[in-house]
Amino acid sequence: MSGSTARLEAIEAVTNYKPITHPLNFHDVSTGALFGSNVFGLSVMQSRLPKAVYKSLLNTISSGSTLDPGIADVVASAMKDWAIEKGATHYAHVFYPLTGSTAEKHDSFLSPDGNGGAIAEFAGKTLIQGEPDASSFPNGGIRATFEARGYTAWDVTSPAYILENPNGTTLCIPTAFVSWTGEALDKKTPLLRSMQALNKQAQRVLKAFGHEDVATVVSYAGAEQEYFLVDRHFYFSRPDLIAAGRTLFGAPPPKGQEFDDHYFGAIPERVLAFMLECERELFKLGIPVKTRHNEVAPGQYEVAPVFEQANLATDHQQLMMVTLRRVAEKYGMTCLLHEKPFAGVNGSGKHVNFSIGNSTQGNLLDPGDTPHENAQFLIFCAAVIRAVHRHASLLRAVVASAGNDHRLGANEAPPAILSIFLGEQLADVFAQIAKDGGATSSKSKGTLTVGVDTLPELPKDAGDRNRTSPFAFTGNRFEFRAVGSGQSIAGPMVAINTIVAESLDYIADRLEAALAADPDGLVEEVQSILRDIIAEHGNVIFNGDGYSEEWHAEANQRGLPNLRTTVDALPSLASPEVVSMFEKYGVLTEREMLSRQEVYLEQYCLTVGVEARTTLEMAKTIVFPAAVRYQGELASTCSSLKAVGYDPDTSTLDELSGLVKQLHERVGALESSMGNGNGNGTLCHAEHYCQDVIPAMAAVRQTADALEGMVADDLWPLATYQEMLFIK
Ligand code: ADP
Ligand code: MG
Repeated sequence: MSGSTARLEAIEAVTNYKPITHPLNFHDVSTGALFGSNVFGLSVMQSRLPKAVYKSLLNTISSGSTLDPGIADVVASAMKDWAIEKGATHYAHVFYPLTGSTAEKHDSFLSPDGNGGAIAEFAGKTLIQGEPDASSFPNGGIRATFEARGYTAWDVTSPAYILENPNGTTLCIPTAFVSWTGEALDKKTPLLRSMQALNKQAQRVLKAFGHEDVATVVSYAGAEQEYFLVDRHFYFSRPDLIAAGRTLFGAPPPKGQEFDDHYFGAIPERVLAFMLECERELFKLGIPVKTRHNEVAPGQYEVAPVFEQANLATDHQQLMMVTLRRVAEKYGMTCLLHEKPFAGVNGSGKHVNFSIGNSTQGNLLDPGDTPHENAQFLIFCAAVIRAVHRHASLLRAVVASAGNDHRLGANEAPPAILSIFLGEQLADVFAQIAKDGGATSSKSKGTLTVGVDTLPELPKDAGDRNRTSPFAFTGNRFEFRAVGSGQSIAGPMVAINTIVAESLDYIADRLEAALAADPDGLVEEVQSILRDIIAEHGNVIFNGDGYSEEWHAEANQRGLPNLRTTVDALPSLASPEVVSMFEKYGVLTEREMLSRQEVYLEQYCLTVGVEARTTLEMAKTIVFPAAVRYQGELASTCSSLKAVGYDPDTSTLDELSGLVKQLHERVGALESSMGNGNGNGTLCHAEHYCQDVIPAMAAVRQTADALEGMVADDLWPLATYQEMLFIK
């Protein structure tokens, strides 16, 4: 192919791609031998640690008791030996800064031995605590530069693991990251705190229901991850994909979603090879994934792990994103985790499925066979309903990002309005409760079965699904669909744990008071709580089409917030109700909340700023030159024709010239809008980006996309949507 543009070269390279063939041993996958083989998990600990040490550690892991520092040396030494046997040369405290990414600080096991040699060392105190220089991580003003030090603290509940690299492997230790004053600088610290808060309040409710010896209650999370794959050659031919992770230009393909994914025949094999290797890598890390294609958009796929305890699931989610990116590279592709890499094409989200439970009561959001009369289930479900209604704005805020703004509320995405889908059956039960204070067959006192499933069966399959709801009950869990594909699930889980803890606290107060007044008063009080919650918060339940126009109007009437952009949403993080709730349950202090709001606003500005600068650069140096080249070609054709006596039709040239002029003007407008920031403070900057810069960017794009439809194909420099999505 005699292409002169980066685009044509990329197409040539992509079509010449030779699949890598290094047959993997699949036997170890199918036998399960591979699973968790790189994890310093319970079974490894049990076999390598003295009994008493193992018991003490297990106690900390399963019941949240404080870690005994006395055992740290023994654990560290066993961990080091195990890691070195696996080829590790370094260890790293892994932490999760507010950027949403994963950070690692690597150190060698080797220390000078004082005699000119070196010995492998890993002391307990090194395991428990690290001191990365934290000054380059965002903290939203919490830490002055003179106190740049941050500490990482070992999170015993998330096991250490080995990250392999062909040139030496690393022992990774999941940690929390705090300032020297103990303030959270990361996403893990509040998550751990919120799990404690949830446990405390859930315990009270379960006690009121008569349960003794209740195991620690935790939340579980299972996050379905959507992502796009594009060939690396296309990726590197597009400065917008490199800088912004999404296309800032590109006319929609003639026919978006409906395209058959198998259009280019051999595609899936390479993708499948990638998926299988991802799966292997994740298995080694003890991450239980199942992979599959996503049918929605061309080039888009999904991987879903089996749910785990929220903290572990969150760490695993981070590892999964890293792994997807890393393995994709190996197969000559780039994994895009942006929420909307291609305008007009289905976006990528992360559906966070969550439930609450423990080893003694099981899943507390499982209606068992009789949702109708299972009082305990209804109470936990009502706690979620109340929580979501009271804190809809917070839930919107914790999924807010510049990227997710392109997805939330757009077609094919959950709306920015937070409502709950319950399904017909359950909605009906709650409707009955609201009407007469008790579900029909439970009217007479005493027929509500408390935590025991002895009543007639209802169809277990909650059956009806609603893909348009941002928060859907799916049989034994809720699915929070508004989370963005590139986001950490920590923020959403912190919010869910905390708001549910608050509602359980309210419920526990009432149950305890009722029981104190009348030891047999449980059932009556349960009914009255359910009735009150439905009366006050039932407005958040919506089983209809969340994408419809009517819903926007109705939600407005119901008083449900509709926060369309990140800039609208983020201030909720600092609202008095939210701040006092997080303080009350010891999850985040006011200072920590404010710092978070600040960091996320900063990130928004940074993201949009990068996009705007990339738009300018591409418009000026890629799109504009291509357009004027074509303009020149057309003009010279016209004048040659005139020279030989023809009267050429100049309408195409006129139209093109109009667009070239418009592009020039719009580039100028974008440039000046960027310089025009008014007001002080990060919120003002973010507002400016949202209200002025983004529309100016969109205008540039609109003209450029129109040019894409006019300029001669061999002169068009940017890989098109059709090429990126369909050629693999
Ligand atoms: P669907 O596409 O129908 O939503 P998937 O099977 O793709 O379902 O994903 C469901 C996700 O929900 C998986 O990650 C699964 O592990 C998780 N999940 C299942 N049960 C629970 C539960 N009780 N609590 C939390 N997550 C759960
Ligand atoms: Mg799902």
